Amino acid sequence: MRDRKARDDLYERAAEAWGEDAQLTKAAEEFAELAAVVNRAQNGQADHMDIIEELVDARLMLEQLEFQLDDATVGLAFDQAVADLEDRLEVHGDAE
Ligand SMILES: [Mg+2]
Repeated sequence: MRDRKARDDLYERAAEAWGEDAQLTKAAEEFAELAAVVNRAQNGQADHMDIIEELVDARLMLEQLEFQLDDATVGLAFDQAVADLEDRLEVHGDAE
């Protein structure tokens, strides 16, 4: 996997090449494709590899959105969301 700096440089080039509006449109498209393939899998019309293919497309766009939106802020909000999930599941990090 590329290091963080190399990926950030790549995402910067993508934003410059296509523009933020086009990137948002592409992200929405890939997220919709992931949702669609997950639905097809529930009906037996898509398999594990179909999901992985769309998940990778969506993840690539998700990472680019994070880069555009200031991923430090996204990181803090994500950490809070994980903490909220831990609270809901009553995970407290202490070994039993
Ligand atoms: Mg796709």
